[in-house]
Amino acid sequence: MFAAHFDCPGGPENLYMKGVMKPDPGEGEVLVKVSASALNRADLLQRRGKYPPPKGASDILGLEAAGRVAGLGPGCSGRWKIGDAVMALLSGGGQAQFVTVPEGHLMPIPKDMTFIQAAAIPEAWLTAFQLLHFVGKVQEGERVLIHAGASGVGMAAIQLVRLAKAIPIVTAGTQEKLEATAKAGAAAGFNYKNEDFSEKVLEFTQGSGVDLILDCVGASYWEKNLNCLSTDGRWIIYGLLSGGEVHGDLLARLLSKRASIHTSLLRSRDKEYKERLVRAFTEEVLPHFCGGASPRLQPLVDSVYPLHAIAEAHRAMEENRNIGKIVIEIPV
Ligand code: NAP
Repeated sequence: MFAAHFDCPGGPENLYMKGVMKPDPGEGEVLVKVSASALNRADLLQRRGKYPPPKGASDILGLEAAGRVAGLGPGCSGRWKIGDAVMALLSGGGQAQFVTVPEGHLMPIPKDMTFIQAAAIPEAWLTAFQLLHFVGKVQEGERVLIHAGASGVGMAAIQLVRLAKAIPIVTAGTQEKLEATAKAGAAAGFNYKNEDFSEKVLEFTQGSGVDLILDCVGASYWEKNLNCLSTDGRWIIYGLLSGGEVHGDLLARLLSKRASIHTSLLRSRDKEYKERLVRAFTEEVLPHFCGGASPRLQPLVDSVYPLHAIAEAHRAMEENRNIGKIVIEIPV
């Protein structure tokens, strides 16, 4: 089969499509014929040699995929059958013609949704759902500050905050991105490049600040985050786009607000945790992607690249060009 490949860590130019061995489904695993996958920042880090796959995971790039069930390993429960349209949360291997996945990490593709749209769901939406509900325990009416609001995770988080009847506030780096986040449901949005988002957030919340911060930026935002976090607020760090080294009296500022810091990584969670997450998402969120459910959720696809142009897709993400998800179409 063909897969995205690089021989040594480095820039996007190292990526190419290579013929590799097709995987065999193991105990309790399903073989999926992949139609589409999507890109994540983790792929960029892995390509640079800075984020190796967890032990036992495929070293092929791709944390998510959509396609059809093509085979069942021994011990599968009968939940999936050959030909089912599925989307998968993966620890790796999605950017290839076939991938194996534990059966509990699969979800049915909502009615009327294409493989391209479905590929944009698993990693970003499960991450946002996990941060909001499993980690952050978001409550109705709470104000949630979402950094990198127009990112794949950000656009999912905005909609999930609305679904939880809470209030999404975002930051982003361009006017175009802020407009897209407003369309997705953000109650307010601030351009971190030309305004102090913490002052703006305090203004918007009439001085009380936000209850929850979903932060994938890290170091450069720490002080502003603490400025606009409410007393007893929760600050969830799930990425470090600006680095992780902070200078200043972080602990005193944190204590003065009785605030808490949580951190979270999805890829390294164990199989059972991911199964619980996928089950909760399937029951509570998936129905809102189809039919007359209100509010209606939508995966946001920024652009689609064929697998042979994967280097160009990496460049687009590295240059912060995307609003929502970059999808990779896999050849038949
Ligand atoms: P994405 O679509 O590529 O969007 C990332 C956006 O972040 C960029 O487009 C850019 O938008 C903004 N950004 C980049 N560098 C920045 C900086 N130094 N300061 C402020 N903003 C910056 O990203 P994604 O795939 O959705 O992932 C978003 C983040 O979530 C990444 O950090 C990723 O590693 C993390 N993640 C974590 C988990 C987990 O389990 N912990 C899972 C999935 C993703 P602007 O133009 O607005 O600046």
